[in-house]
Amino acid sequence: MPRHYQISALEATWLIRNQELSCEEYILSIFERIDKTEGKIHAFITLLREQALEKAREVDKLVKKREGQGILSGIPIAIKDVICTNGVRTTCSSRMLKDYVPPYDATVVRKLNSEGAIIVGKTNMDEFAMGSTTETSFFGPTRNPWDLNKVPGGSSGGSAAAVIAEDVPLALGSDTGGSIRCPASYCSVVGLKPTYGLVSRYGLISYANSLEQIGPFARTVEDCALLLTIISGHDDKDSTSANLSSKDYVSLLKEDDVNGLRIGVPHEFFGEGVDDDVKDTVWEAILKLESLGCTYDEVSVSSVSYALAAYYIIAMSEASSNLARYDGLRFGFRQERDEGDWATVYAKNRKEGFGAEVRRRIILGTYALSAGYYDQYYLKALKVRTILRRDFERALKEFDVLIGPTMPVLPFGIGEKIDDPLTLYMCDVLTVPANITGYPAMSIPCGFKNNLPVGMQIMGKPFDEETVLRVAHLFEQNTDHNLRRPNL
Ligand code: GLN
Repeated sequence: MPRHYQISALEATWLIRNQELSCEEYILSIFERIDKTEGKIHAFITLLREQALEKAREVDKLVKKREGQGILSGIPIAIKDVICTNGVRTTCSSRMLKDYVPPYDATVVRKLNSEGAIIVGKTNMDEFAMGSTTETSFFGPTRNPWDLNKVPGGSSGGSAAAVIAEDVPLALGSDTGGSIRCPASYCSVVGLKPTYGLVSRYGLISYANSLEQIGPFARTVEDCALLLTIISGHDDKDSTSANLSSKDYVSLLKEDDVNGLRIGVPHEFFGEGVDDDVKDTVWEAILKLESLGCTYDEVSVSSVSYALAAYYIIAMSEASSNLARYDGLRFGFRQERDEGDWATVYAKNRKEGFGAEVRRRIILGTYALSAGYYDQYYLKALKVRTILRRDFERALKEFDVLIGPTMPVLPFGIGEKIDDPLTLYMCDVLTVPANITGYPAMSIPCGFKNNLPVGMQIMGKPFDEETVLRVAHLFEQNTDHNLRRPNL
């Protein structure tokens, strides 16, 4: 018999609804589990124990009366600390926002609450979502549950670690250049970056607004589909939100006919810099999919080699503009001795409020946007973006999905790369194309090397999340990588 905290979200909704599981007992078991693991992995910045238990008791009452239950009634979830929660501090893992308590909920949080989900805490991340390791958090790093000396990936490292540690069955992250897929790969969970515009960004604290999306983490593809069903859909509060009717991704999974599904394998995704261990594991997974009825062929998406450079110019430029509002006067951390003129005070607040990586990006972004350099950098990056989109559009005309590794290397040591930003940026080489193009992409567990997880990335056509999820589901149902758990 699995323990309460181990069951999937979908199963728990069923058990709670049928009064086979008391929600209070369930949430107590979740917090017992968090108490056991948190000292080792540090996935959370804020825990909401009392609030969550109170809500659990309410759910139990409603269930007894058979009243007003939502799709996620009683299901615990963790939220990345870049997503605003009314009355609960939302820090972005930054000293700048360490005491910020939003007066409103992000749209995704509002939707979760109205479906009865129970938010158990806010998760650790890289400061302002800038990074791939969760090491740049003002609150200290999160550790990889598979090896506590290794990074969990980032920037949504807390969310991914909490899910594989069985602290919660579901979590939300955000993905600007890989921040859901990278930690999903390094922690061996399922993580999906939706098509740009599918999920409202209202209440997501911006890093690079033209690239990012909020998305789900789970231990099963079905749970991931369930969470996506809840959070997706049009929102008047986000002008970039797509005007499409909503879908039930869980029932779409059941249409499991994947026979003859065409997989494109971009050979650039297996190029220089990608570890042989990673390549071999992902190729095995592709062959497995072939044995299950899919076909595959290699394809070339040659502009991929420019994606990383374009991504960092666009992301840093947008960051320099988005983060300009944190001056310590209207918003954010204010250092104590605020003497001098406005510029001096502003500079001091920002120097002390932001960490080194955030400052580096603001400076580089401001430079790329400044007169004389704008054309050389920012404008050129936008042109590359257009070319990349065209290339992927072409590739996805021939294929239903594109598959490759999520990360080029296995999880590495905490502290190992943090002083070498360029090497760290290189780790995003396979994830940024989906953000530049806006296309959906997902990472699923596909094997282990040296007892460390390897993730496979499945990229799809715009707003065709269901095909991506179906391929993932097919693979998951016929393998057992997603059943492995770390020893905590
Ligand atoms: N690692 C990438 C960066 O640092 C992606 C971050 C993200 O997706 N938020 O920009």
